[in-house]
Amino acid sequence: MKWLVGIAIVLAALGAFFWWAALDAGAPPEANGIVDIAAYRELVANDAPETLPTAVNVEFVGESNAPSFAVESGAFDGQRTLSYNSFQIVAPGGDTIIDGAVDRATLDQMSQGKGSFNEQTYDDVLAAMTRAQRVMITHEHLDHVMAIARHPEPAAIAPRLELTSAQLNGLPVHAPNGQLAPEIANIATVDLTRPQRLAPGVVAVAMPGHSPGTVLIYARTTTREYLFIGDIAWVMGSVEHLRGRPRFVTWLMPGVDPGRPEVLRQLRALHDVAEANPELVLLPAHDDAHLRDLVAAGALSEGFTRPAATAPIPE
Ligand SMILES: [Zn+2]
Ligand SMILES: [Zn+2]
Repeated sequence: MKWLVGIAIVLAALGAFFWWAALDAGAPPEANGIVDIAAYRELVANDAPETLPTAVNVEFVGESNAPSFAVESGAFDGQRTLSYNSFQIVAPGGDTIIDGAVDRATLDQMSQGKGSFNEQTYDDVLAAMTRAQRVMITHEHLDHVMAIARHPEPAAIAPRLELTSAQLNGLPVHAPNGQLAPEIANIATVDLTRPQRLAPGVVAVAMPGHSPGTVLIYARTTTREYLFIGDIAWVMGSVEHLRGRPRFVTWLMPGVDPGRPEVLRQLRALHDVAEANPELVLLPAHDDAHLRDLVAAGALSEGFTRPAATAPIPE
């Protein structure tokens, strides 16, 4: 009998550990005020309609597969395709590029050579950055920054970068030899502690949790509203089902979710905002199926457009 009790205790302990490592990732019941969409709207309420962005485009640079339960805790439905992307907000006063995706070496390293990489779209992202009015990132992780940290013409993009100090601090480790080009290393950073209007229709606010430099970007175009949520959720399922990443992923991937409780609160806040605003388009950085659905539905266009003229280098 004694050994039966012993086995029962071991099994219970294993079960509890499994639950804690793989399943315990629920969002809290309430997170009011964390995603203050009314404040973002207010900041752009007086922007003249003819100055607002007219479209949001995406370049799919690379992709890899991951088990669903590692991407969204509690999801046991096979493999998910994660894509590595860059976005372009097209506006009359100049474009905003969000995120610098991966280069081939980074994708090979992340996917152990099993991912696929599109040389042409990566080149298009590099070129678009040299013509944009501003270049931003949702956060400083390796799969969002390579077209910046390893850009072949750092002097051409440096004056266009709008990064927070937490984001800039995270970039050198991704640069060749761990050294950012001096033009980029010495940019003036932006303070997004409170929501800031950065351009007509464009607002950003610091949202640390997934990384110290994570920001949330809101864009209002002439036809829609968008929230670029970066990696707060890797897939829309995390927002819809209120389930974050499992703990074991944060052990395997150091630097992911140092502020895990904040991420879970943000998921609750995004869930509630999405539910109250069904027309709002949420853009998780890596959810390939969701992003391609948005392309099919006309809320996103695939491929960057070339502006009529290169934006002048900002003062
Ligand atoms: Zn990330
Ligand atoms: Zn990412």
